[in-house]
Amino acid sequence: MSQPKCRVNILGAGVSGLTTALVLLQNSHYSVQIIATHLPSELALDYTSPWAGAHWRSYADIDDLDQQALDTATFKHLTHLAKHEPNAGVMFLYGHDYWDVKPKDFVDPWFKTLVEDYHYIPVADLPRGVEFGIRYRTVSVNAPKYLVYLQEKVLALGATIHHGTVASLKELAQIPHGSSRADVIINCSGLGSRILGGVLDHQMFPTRGQIVIVKVDDALWPLAKQFTCERYAEGSAMGKGTITYVIPRVIPGQESANGEIVLGGTMQHWDWGNDKETTSEETTNAILRRVRETKPDLFTTAKVLRSCAGLRPNRRGGVRVSAAVEQLDWNEGWEKPVLVVAHNYGHAGFGYQASVGCANKVVAEIERSLQQLDRARASSKTMSKL
Ligand SMILES: Cc1cc2nc3c(=O)[nH]c(=O)nc-3n(C[C@H](O)[C@H](O)[C@H](O)COP(=O)(O)OP(=O)(O)OC[C@H]3O[C@@H](n4cnc5c(N)ncnc54)[C@H](O)[C@@H]3O)c2cc1C
Repeated sequence: MSQPKCRVNILGAGVSGLTTALVLLQNSHYSVQIIATHLPSELALDYTSPWAGAHWRSYADIDDLDQQALDTATFKHLTHLAKHEPNAGVMFLYGHDYWDVKPKDFVDPWFKTLVEDYHYIPVADLPRGVEFGIRYRTVSVNAPKYLVYLQEKVLALGATIHHGTVASLKELAQIPHGSSRADVIINCSGLGSRILGGVLDHQMFPTRGQIVIVKVDDALWPLAKQFTCERYAEGSAMGKGTITYVIPRVIPGQESANGEIVLGGTMQHWDWGNDKETTSEETTNAILRRVRETKPDLFTTAKVLRSCAGLRPNRRGGVRVSAAVEQLDWNEGWEKPVLVVAHNYGHAGFGYQASVGCANKVVAEIERSLQQLDRARASSKTMSKL
């Protein structure tokens, strides 16, 4: 007789929820249903994933081996997609990191040996005003298209996806999974974790990012699609100070078609934005000016399509990826269910580039918790027989 499947309710259909679903579904032991207020192809200020650039440029410190492991697993997966799955919207290109002033304590980033073709950029090839730069082969992800790809992938593997909003973990656990209740619930609600009952994580805060979407002349696209960069003003780095970046979006399956390019950006901690006025013209102009100074040959004639903004789900203390056996408060008169409660949220500006690593990690934690639950149940059965 085949084993009954382990039923999982996932909250959230951003890159974290969908990637977690995909990793679970690679093991036929799991049945997955996703519940989310916002789904791929929708846009909302509090749904971060569609707004991202997104390219792979790890920010893990040289001694942060945990974050490096998460980013490495994701890099390997994304490069596999870039090679073998054109419909994913992931492509190879060259990353350029520019420093207006070379940091005195500069050390090569840890990923120097992970990426191909890492080298210092000759001074003659640096943009005006830039003192130092590195170049390496990396990947970029067309975020809105990749979300649709992930959604199609998990549906094809048997997941169900439902529009819906829950107020608490308890409500998530109470959503029937088939004819039964879930054995595992996973919170991938990003910034929503701040107000979700049973979580109420006040370490969560938004880091608003304004971007400008442009198109270059058709003739420039072959060069533009191979170029991504980050430029740091003096004393700045990802997460602080002024950062300028360029990330092209290839159209899945049509690499040669002229796609959009994301120009950024801002890092506005604790700024919740405003539904009506999400972008500022002054910021748009400042982004365009900085990008045009950095890469005039590509962007002087670029056509602005729109400006927009998203809220990065930042977390004091870092990302929360964990699972534990818990007994949730239930309705009065009901037996409190024991189940596995997991979390995968708080990815700030690295939700794509760490997505696969974080999903692998949370699934490994869930498996450990399920084994712990099995052992507890087996020993209570033995006790009751005695
Ligand atoms: C401008 C910008 C540029 C970025 N660039 C990059 C980049 O280059 N590289 C990179 O790796 N990352 C980048 N990021 C960060 C990345 O986008 C995020 O880390 C990532 O999208 C977070 O995904 P998530 O799935 O955790 O959250 P979200 O995408 O916000 O998804 C949360 C999900 O939970 C649902 N939800 C929340 N609460 C509830 C509830 N109570 N009930 C039901 N559903 C609920 C939402 O509807 C949604 O489906 C960027 C972000 C921005 C804004």
